[in-house]
Amino acid sequence: MTAGYEAVIGLEIHVELSTESKMFCGCRVEFGGEPNTRTCPVCAAHPGALPVINEKAIDYLARIALSLDCDIPPGSIFHRKNYFYPDLPKGYQISQYDQPFAIEGHLDISVDEEDIRVGIERVHMEEDTAKNIHAGASGRIAGALYSLIDFNRSGTPLVEIVTKPEIHSPQSARVFLNKLKNLLKYLEVSDCNMEEGSLRCDANVSVRPAGSSELGVKTELKNMNSFKHLEKGLAREIERQTGLLAAGERVVQQTVHFDFATGEVTPMRSKEFAHDYRYFPEPDLAPLVANQEFVDRIAASMPELPDARAGRYRRDFGLTPYNAEVMTSDRKLSDFFEECVRHFNDPKLVSNWLMGELLGYLNATGGELADCLVKPASLAELLGMIESGKISNAVGKEVFAEMCQSGKKAAAIVEAKGLTQISDTAELEAIIDAVLAENPEQVAQYRAGRDKLFGFFVGMVMKKTRGRANPQVINTLLKEKLS
Ligand code: ADP
Ligand code: MG
Ligand code: ZN
Repeated sequence: MTAGYEAVIGLEIHVELSTESKMFCGCRVEFGGEPNTRTCPVCAAHPGALPVINEKAIDYLARIALSLDCDIPPGSIFHRKNYFYPDLPKGYQISQYDQPFAIEGHLDISVDEEDIRVGIERVHMEEDTAKNIHAGASGRIAGALYSLIDFNRSGTPLVEIVTKPEIHSPQSARVFLNKLKNLLKYLEVSDCNMEEGSLRCDANVSVRPAGSSELGVKTELKNMNSFKHLEKGLAREIERQTGLLAAGERVVQQTVHFDFATGEVTPMRSKEFAHDYRYFPEPDLAPLVANQEFVDRIAASMPELPDARAGRYRRDFGLTPYNAEVMTSDRKLSDFFEECVRHFNDPKLVSNWLMGELLGYLNATGGELADCLVKPASLAELLGMIESGKISNAVGKEVFAEMCQSGKKAAAIVEAKGLTQISDTAELEAIIDAVLAENPEQVAQYRAGRDKLFGFFVGMVMKKTRGRANPQVINTLLKEKLS
């Protein structure tokens, strides 16, 4: 960020709910498939067809609102947002306007060890549009020969989450979106698959003189559909706006397009305003009543949320804030962690193994925890073998990798491969004698004062024993022999 300026960012996030059926009809919700196979008169916009609210979608909506600590007013209503586009044959989208379902929440993030609270302006319910498919080499509208419309997506329940303009760097925007994504997945209300468009993000950004409390003129970056896009697009646009302001020019309020390949930001269209949409209350739907009983019922059925869980891990288990956050970034991981700790009561060690070995393995193989062949009890068993000295830590990691691949138990692998740790003094003494005899030069140098060579000898013993030697015993024996 150029000195003397501050960036202001607000995000609008759309999330497709993973309900069985659509928002206002009984058609199935599913990504892709043969085009136009999941449609009916309601979601294909036949005249006279009437919408019926999906109760499950409102349940999910309430979970999202409560997880963001929002207020849920006793009632909200649906509006028609009027505009023309081929993927919207009704000529309007059913959405919410001046009486949204939930308001005034927040989500806390941590960026470079600084805790930041980002306000949530509103959370409201709407429906997704159909999908235009542009036929032509590039798949983009420019240069397309013709366009087709697939109504399978039309009417998918869509929740919009709007933040306050309280994010001040592209990095914070990325961290926020990632945390929100993890939270929504944790709630099991959406698969949040960004490639398939289940989670989409528009970024609003302006720049102002540092220290000013007034908002500058903003532009909007539409469809920042990956974390990289979001961060890079914002950085580029902040640079552009700062350049304009520094040169005494003005920023024009508009939608801009960010081309990831070239890094270019180009104006797309002038910004539309709320009054352009001629919002009016949807006459075919009754107001949505969210009475206390409903809110209490949803609240009572919510799982312990990630932040609360992370707080508990810091307090009760003594985890670092970072470990606690990683352990709660995914509900299944969190459950795995707790179950493992029930079998092997060393939470810090367990979390380090999960972060280093388990997540490392899943990252490398692109696998999911749910499909992982290692279960909490078998990891606990492995850790027990390391603790009791049966195998060394280094061998333990090797055994773990094998457990992931074959699903075999640690004890069986150790047995079959003869990986038991060697702690027997006589056996290790013989190996150490051999190492010292094979490296007379190093021995002489060590005795002449090159202390650093100690590690070399340890390494050679480990090599000879394929990592099975007990490090403590080697240390003691080596010191004796070399003195
Ligand atoms: P619009 O009516 O243009 O969609 P809203 O007031 O509804 O604008 O805000 C949309 C998003 O833009 C919100 O996330 C909000 O925080 C953000 N926003 C509003 N004004 C600014 C600004 N001046 N700079 C950056 N972000 C802003
Ligand atoms: Mg907007
Ligand atoms: Zn339908």
